[in-house]
Amino acid sequence: MSVPISFDKEKNILTIGGQPVVLHCHHYNMFLQQSIADLIGEENARNLQISSAQKVISKVYDNLKPSFSDPKEILELGAEIFKKLGYGIIDFSKVGKSGGQIMLPMSHYAFNWFEKFGPAKSGVCLFAMGFILATINRAFGTDFSVTDIREVECRAMNPEEHEHCVIEVGKNGN
Ligand SMILES: [Zn+2]
Repeated sequence: MSVPISFDKEKNILTIGGQPVVLHCHHYNMFLQQSIADLIGEENARNLQISSAQKVISKVYDNLKPSFSDPKEILELGAEIFKKLGYGIIDFSKVGKSGGQIMLPMSHYAFNWFEKFGPAKSGVCLFAMGFILATINRAFGTDFSVTDIREVECRAMNPEEHEHCVIEVGKNGN
């Protein structure tokens, strides 16, 4: 199954999987994320943005109604959606029902955050984390939430030290 994408030139509306989407440039996305943190604090902003992304991407899967029996097919679909939305490259090869490790060889947020603001204090791939939660829960029927995910390495913190972003999912910090 590939992701159905259509663009209505007359109305200027892009849809992915039947859902209208808005694409923003990295300037908008980075400033929006920083502005939310400035307004409500880093921890609240983290939780809000991860859970928001999780809800939005869960809705994308609801609209697509993938009927796969193999979780790997959902993970592949997720990687394709992530890429087509312009958020980068995501590797789900090391995840299972109990969670696991997800690598982002290319992350829109990590790459552009560093270019725009310099080194980040902590991981900035909040949208990716919400995306990952929605995708893993859809693939395995799990109920991972914002407290079960953390970014252990983010390129935005120091590209020389962290070539890729690494995100871990698991209950009870495992
Ligand atoms: Zn990152």
